Amino acid sequence: MGEGTGMTETFGVDFLVRWLAAVAEAVDREADRLTELDSAIGDADHGANLKRGFAAVTTILAEEPPATPGAVLTAAGRQLISTVGGASGPLYGTLLRRTGKTLGDGDRVTREQLAEALGSGVAAVSQLGGAQVGDKTMLDALVPAVEGLRASFGAARAAAEEGALATVPLRARKGRASYLGERSVGHQDPGATSSALLFAALDDVARTEGAS
Ligand code: ADP
Ligand code: MG
Repeated sequence: MGEGTGMTETFGVDFLVRWLAAVAEAVDREADRLTELDSAIGDADHGANLKRGFAAVTTILAEEPPATPGAVLTAAGRQLISTVGGASGPLYGTLLRRTGKTLGDGDRVTREQLAEALGSGVAAVSQLGGAQVGDKTMLDALVPAVEGLRASFGAARAAAEEGALATVPLRARKGRASYLGERSVGHQDPGATSSALLFAALDDVARTEGAS
C-alpha cells in the first residue's frame, strides 16, 4: 500500500502484485481487440499470447508471493518468458525482469524509482529486439510512458495511449508486421496497444491508493 503524504510516497509488494493482476484483467477484457489488431498486421495471436502469459503470472504470484517489489517483477518477467511463445513474451518478460533487477531488493519503491527502473527495462527491450521509437512496436508506447511516469502515473498513462495511437500512420520496421512493408500503414500496433493497457492499469491501481 502507498504510504506517506505524496512527497515521498512509497509502494510495496502488494502494489506491484495488484498492478500485475490489473494487467491480467485488462488483457483478458481486451484480448479480442488485441487479436483483431494483430490479425490486421500480424498472425492474430497477441490477445491469446498475453492472456495466457499474464494469467500464468497471476497464478505464480499467488502461489509464491515474492518478498520485494523487485522480486515481484523479476518473477513475473521470468514467467512471461517461459509461458509466451510469441515475440511479445520475451520482450515483455525482459521488460519486467530487467526492471525488477534494477529495483534491487528494497522493501518499498517510489514512483521515481519505478520510472528509473522501467527505463532500464525499456532499454533492454530495445536492445533485445533492435527496435527504436518510430519502428511501430511496443516501444512507441513504452518509451513515452516511462518518460511520463517521471511526472505522474496519469502522465504515463496518457503518454502510452498517445504513443499507441501514433503508431497508426507508421510503417513497421521490426517484428512480423514489418513483412507487410507499406501495407502495415494505417493500422495500430498491437504491442503498443497492450503497452498502453499496462500503464492504464498502473494508473488505476495508483489511484486506488490515492497516489498520482
Ligand atoms: P508475434 O509477433 O511473435 O506473433 P505477438 O503477436 O504476441 O508476437 O506480439 C506482436 C507485438 O510485438 C508487435 O505488435 C510489436 O509491438 C511487438 N514486437 C515485435 N517485434 C518487436 C521488436 N523487435 N521490438 C519491439 N517490439 C516488437
Ligand atoms: Mg502475433
